[in-house]
Amino acid sequence: MAVEQGVPIFVTLVGNLSRDRLPAELAALSGPEVIALAGPCSVESPEQVSSVARSVAASGARILRGGAFKPRTSPYAFQGYGEEALKWMRAAADENGLAVVSEVMDARQIEMMMRYVDCLQVGARNVQNFDLLKELGRVRRPVLLKRGLAATLEEFLMSAEYILAEGNYDVILCERGVRTFSDFSRNTLDLAVVPAVKDLSHLPILVDPSHGTGRRDKVAPMSRGAAAVGADGLILEVHHDPDRALSDGPQSITPETFEALVRELRQIAPVLGRSL
Ligand code: PEP
Ligand code: MN
Repeated sequence: MAVEQGVPIFVTLVGNLSRDRLPAELAALSGPEVIALAGPCSVESPEQVSSVARSVAASGARILRGGAFKPRTSPYAFQGYGEEALKWMRAAADENGLAVVSEVMDARQIEMMMRYVDCLQVGARNVQNFDLLKELGRVRRPVLLKRGLAATLEEFLMSAEYILAEGNYDVILCERGVRTFSDFSRNTLDLAVVPAVKDLSHLPILVDPSHGTGRRDKVAPMSRGAAAVGADGLILEVHHDPDRALSDGPQSITPETFEALVRELRQIAPVLGRSL
């Protein structure tokens, strides 16, 4: 694809995660296991994040997700509790043997966030914020790069390239749905991008069926599909009381649903030569 258009692309050459420097939970993303990343959309309180962390860890999650800086459509919507939330999240993860991933919205947050997180997430709205990507290329911390709302495959890989080109090879991609005319779900989860990425790159790719559908009842079926097409992991929004969540409640599943889903995935994975 990129080659046909004469655009140099190096992702395929250098895409392997530097396993020796990474926490085991993140290094596992380039192995045979389907990794579950789970947690609330927003970190809301020490109790909330600790209780979600305990449940998802008991069910088999390896990495805790949660937003401290939230990119919201409205400036009046909840924007996240910032550094406080990162402290709560780090403590919750440590209590339960989980790694931490959280979204960075601005290059000025990187240094502070590195004190708390094992992996820095770039959200769909920032995937072409090239100055942020370049800064993330200069740090030694894995980056979870989400696909943009309207990013083509080439644009998505080129965003990864910005990070890799600066010397940070620990990039994890994430399909989180793109905007289409289809209106029964919040976004259209493009599962076909998983094998497409695997043809062109060695980078691990996660699937986010929470943002990819926007609907709680679609999360488990699309997770099963994501595992079947070869996703290296699933990132899922889990909340104890989704109807009262401060963000993304409609797409958040309960810890009980998460547990049931992991049980299903554990049956599917061996058929595909994977484990969970
Ligand atoms: C999130 O993970 O909560 C999030 C905001 O994701 P995205 O950037 O994919 O919308
Ligand atoms: Mn969310």
